[in-house]
Amino acid sequence: MALGEFELIERYFRPPVRRAALGGGDDCALLQPAPGQQMAVSTDLLVEGRHFLSTVAPERLGHKALAVNLSDLAACGAEPLAFTLALSLPRAEASFLAPFARGMLELAEQHGIELVGGDTTAGPLTIGITAMGQVPPGQALLRSGARAGDELWVSGCLGDARLALEVFRGRVELPGEAFGAVREAMERPQPRVSLGLALRGIATAAIDLSDGLLGDLAHVRRRSGVGATLWLDALPRSAALAAQPVSVQRECLLAGGDDYELLFTAPASAAEAVRAAGVASGTPVTCVGRIEPASEGMKVYAEAHGREPLDLAAFASFDHFKPA
Ligand code: ADP
Ligand code: MG
Repeated sequence: MALGEFELIERYFRPPVRRAALGGGDDCALLQPAPGQQMAVSTDLLVEGRHFLSTVAPERLGHKALAVNLSDLAACGAEPLAFTLALSLPRAEASFLAPFARGMLELAEQHGIELVGGDTTAGPLTIGITAMGQVPPGQALLRSGARAGDELWVSGCLGDARLALEVFRGRVELPGEAFGAVREAMERPQPRVSLGLALRGIATAAIDLSDGLLGDLAHVRRRSGVGATLWLDALPRSAALAAQPVSVQRECLLAGGDDYELLFTAPASAAEAVRAAGVASGTPVTCVGRIEPASEGMKVYAEAHGREPLDLAAFASFDHFKPA
């Protein structure tokens, strides 16, 4: 069943709003951040064939498109407020739109973020979301705050999304149940919003892991002007990944991408507060290394007291404009 543009928007993308002063349907939405708070704004674009496979279920695609944007708000310690949806799609079919909208709006409901507008056009399947959140001035978690001596932490497990991708590529085989779990990590990431909020005033720097641990850590190092040491054996991983050959584990953990976990730093004296933030937000957190002076560069050791750092040349991070 084909729908017209406005019918489509009305039916799927005009949920009632409670926090926004005015939601979709007019020329602009009107937002009302809490008095004195700063707005945190982030945009992410998902293109079929590049950011997701055409085989993904529409409900999961809707979930993931919003999840990756919520992950950016989480990395800043921002409280989700509202988002807009720019959608290009080949055909206006209810069989795609209904589950897509459901996956997206269910996650939105869970995190108290409201769809307040967007734009819709016919074209190749592309999803652009702009998410807006609020944070008290001076409390946003930034990439630039890491200091030598800080501990380096990650949330959750790393590498499962990449492991799932390797199964799709035919490079790795997994039993059905294990594949289901890593596929879920790839297709239905859970943004660490409550951890980001709990880390306000504790973490010195934060970033969400979208392009691979080493690459995203390099962003923190550059913005903070620091070096870093990582301990490979400390990196948290699922049982499915731990069962893989060491070379596969290293690639998935260090260069995996699509993890949507938080990488953050905090002074060693704040370790108990970090653990408490993990417990309060129901999110596992693991110390995986240390921030060093810039002169130390980036070093990865097999374990915490290792002597010889590993050769990192093999673990390039993902860059859309560089050949793999
Ligand atoms: P404009 O003429 O300003 O481009 P449109 O005709 O594109 O407005 O959209 C009409 C209304 O529907 C606007 O309020 C817009 O925010 C909303 N809208 C359009 N597409 C979407 C979408 N994909 N999701 C949510 N709201 C949408
Ligand atoms: Mg428009």
